[in-house]
Amino acid sequence: MNQRIVILGSGESGFGAAYLAKAKGYSVFVSDFGQIATHYKNLLEENQIEYEEKQHTLPRILQSDLIIKSPGIPENSSIIKEIRKIDIPIVSEIEFAYRYIQGKIIGITGSNGKTTTTSLIYHIFKSEGMSVALVGNIGHSLAYQIATDPKDFYILELSSFQLDDIVEFRCDIAILLNISEDHLDRYDYKMENYIRSKFNIIKNKQDQDLFIYNADDEHIVEFINKNSLNLNNALAFTISEDTTKAGYFQKQELKINTPNHLNLFSMNQDELVIKGKHNVYNSLASGIAARCSGIKDSTIRESFMTFRNMPHRMELVQSIHGVKYINDSKATNVNSAWYALESVTGPVIWIAGGIDKGNQYDILKPLVKEKVKAMICLGKDNIKLNQEFNEIVDVIVNVQSMKDAVKIAYKMAQKGDSVLLSPACSSFDLFQNYEDRGQQFIDMVRNL
Ligand code: ADP
Repeated sequence: MNQRIVILGSGESGFGAAYLAKAKGYSVFVSDFGQIATHYKNLLEENQIEYEEKQHTLPRILQSDLIIKSPGIPENSSIIKEIRKIDIPIVSEIEFAYRYIQGKIIGITGSNGKTTTTSLIYHIFKSEGMSVALVGNIGHSLAYQIATDPKDFYILELSSFQLDDIVEFRCDIAILLNISEDHLDRYDYKMENYIRSKFNIIKNKQDQDLFIYNADDEHIVEFINKNSLNLNNALAFTISEDTTKAGYFQKQELKINTPNHLNLFSMNQDELVIKGKHNVYNSLASGIAARCSGIKDSTIRESFMTFRNMPHRMELVQSIHGVKYINDSKATNVNSAWYALESVTGPVIWIAGGIDKGNQYDILKPLVKEKVKAMICLGKDNIKLNQEFNEIVDVIVNVQSMKDAVKIAYKMAQKGDSVLLSPACSSFDLFQNYEDRGQQFIDMVRNL
């Protein structure tokens, strides 16, 4: 055989694809236009995988039989345009990995809640003692996992970018959590393109595959109504009392009613360790997936009570003099900040700001008016936030460092308040990434 595969990009998914391709006998070349992180460079060298960095050698790339593209590389980049001129197939890492898979895939996508839901499902499966791996954004790439440690189940977090270049990839269970504006720069600023890309999660759905979706989400429902999709074996969840849905919410109880069970799963919201309406959604989706995979109700219930979410997502850092300090640095868009504000009880000192991705703040305003007693704008450029909120928030302070943000919040806070870092923006103006922003918040709070 010895077909040639070129892999563009060498982060987790690029390295994983290269590793799997090599294991399957291909001749592999990794090309990255940026600098390759030392960790991955070492891995490539250890595994004798040829690579280049800070350049793309076009003639070599154009001689390959297949290109595997990392999700970070946009369609309109010059390298992709060059490849599209001739007839070399371009696929994503998950598409390539899919060709070699033997276990089942539970794929999770949505604008918000992917990591939480993926890790919750993994936690449930693990607690049941299943052979399971957590793959995608957290953990290894699907390709690397398959090459090194195959399992019966892969719980896979899927971004829209990963779903863009699939051909045959399909999930045994596909979960679509929600769709709200995000990453539109990658989709010609067209919401319909972004929605379509999220729905790629069921592009190749077969009748027996299960599709679990949010029936409260306007974009999802509209797309389903307007397009002819394979909805055999589709189950919906809602936080209304609509008992016709597989997952619903009634008198503070989560209810799960799946076709393969005679009994109803019920659990009070207070028993969930992860709080807020958004986590009711995430738990309903996870519970349906788990039940339909044959996991016992007792395991699901216990897992909901013992789950520990990843850091930077509504993480209670500390309570000081009756003030809660909550790190939700991962809230990089308006919708996630909405759920954060919604789930906090009592007055809020809200730390927001960063790089605004063309945000529409209107949906936040009623909640901000009701709950936010002071706002601390933390960004290089706070003008838009100031303009949007100065009429509804009494106190707005502008700062340029996390240290100042936390110090000022501490001075203003009174017993019963919450200081909430939920920026609604990305972090790259003042921080390396959202983790750095969240960690600085944690460090400053611990130093108070
Ligand atoms: P993702 O992986 O999709 O970015 P995360 O689970 O990391 O999602 O959560 C990102 C942010 O969105 C966090 O601030 C979190 O509190 C919030 N969030 C989590 N689940 C949901 C949901 N179902 N709807 C809206 N916001 C959510």
